Amino acid sequence: MIRNEPVGACPVCGSPAREPLHRELPDDTFRAVPGTWTLWRCQACGSAYLDPRPDRATIGLAYQRYYTHAAGPAPAAAALSWRGRIRRRLEDGYLHQRYGADRPPSPVGAWLYGLLLPYRHMADVLHRHLPGPGGGRTLLDIGCGDGAFLRQAQACGWQVEGIDPDPQAAAEGLRRGVQIRTGGLETLAQREAAFDVITLSHVIEHLHDPAAALADCHRLLRPGGQLWIATPNIDSGGHALFGRHWRGLETPRHLVLFNEASLRRLLREAGFRGVQRRPSQLPEPFMLARSSQALAQGLPPHDAPPPLAPALRRLVWWLALQGWLRPRRREFLYLVARR
Ligand SMILES: [Zn+2]
Repeated sequence: MIRNEPVGACPVCGSPAREPLHRELPDDTFRAVPGTWTLWRCQACGSAYLDPRPDRATIGLAYQRYYTHAAGPAPAAAALSWRGRIRRRLEDGYLHQRYGADRPPSPVGAWLYGLLLPYRHMADVLHRHLPGPGGGRTLLDIGCGDGAFLRQAQACGWQVEGIDPDPQAAAEGLRRGVQIRTGGLETLAQREAAFDVITLSHVIEHLHDPAAALADCHRLLRPGGQLWIATPNIDSGGHALFGRHWRGLETPRHLVLFNEASLRRLLREAGFRGVQRRPSQLPEPFMLARSSQALAQGLPPHDAPPPLAPALRRLVWWLALQGWLRPRRREFLYLVARR
C-alpha cells in the first residue's frame, strides 16, 4: 500500500497559503494504486502540489504499470508518400545542419525546413533544443528511461550518460550501448562540473524535492552549461478546459505542477541564469485533449484514445491558436537555463 506523507507548504516557494484545486483525484491514468489525493494551488507562486502525497519509500508502487514511450525507428523513405519523401529530405538537411545528426546534408533543405515552423518545432522538441552538434561534449539525461534520447544524442556527436530509477529500463539501455545508472541524482553525488548539457524531460514534476534536484543539476553542469526542462503547465488552456480530467495531472505520480513563472523562479533560486522559453509543438493541445477526453469518459488515456468530438475539436483549435499567441497558456513548458 502507498503510504502518504504530509507536505504542509508549497514545495516550490515554501508558502503555506493555498486553496484546493481538485479534491479526490484518483489514479485514473494507469490505475496502479487505490486511493484519492487533493491537489492544492499555491496562492503565492501559482504552482500546484499534492498534499498529502505518496512518500519516497512507497511511491514506486504507483509506477508498476508505468511505461515510457520510446519512439520507434522512422519508416524507410521508400515506404513514404511523395510528400513524405520530400519532407524527409528537408528534415534530413535540417537535422544534419542544426544538430549534427547522421543524415544526408542538404543546405537548401535545411533552410526550407527552417521555414516550416510546425515541423521544425517538432524536430526541435525531439532533439530537446540541443545547442548544436555534440562535437564530443557531454550530456546527462535524468530519468532517461530506456535511453532512446541518449542514443539519438549520441548519433549527433554527444558523449552521453543517463540515470533512471527503473532497473529494467536501465538494463535495456545498456544492451543498446548507452551508459545508464540505476537510481536518482544521489548516484552522481561525487561528481561536479561534469556535463555540458543536462536534460529533464517530464521528470521534475515527479520529484519530492525539485529544488534540491535543480541544485544538483547546477553543481553537475560546467560553468556555461545548459539545463533543459520539459514539464506540464498547470496554467495551460487544456487544464482550464478539462479541469480534473486534464491528462497532465497524472495523480499521484505528478507531485508538483509548475507554471512558467514558478519554474523560472525555482531555476533562479538554484543559481541558474539566462532562463529562456523554447517553442512547443503545434499538435500538443490535440494530443493532450484526446487523452483528457478519454479520462473524462472513464477510458484509459494511452495507446489510441478516441478522436475528439467535433465541438471539442473546434475548442482545441482555439487552444492551439491561443498557445501560439500566449506562450504561458501552452500545454507544456520548455525552458533552458545556463549555469
Ligand atoms: Zn508556491
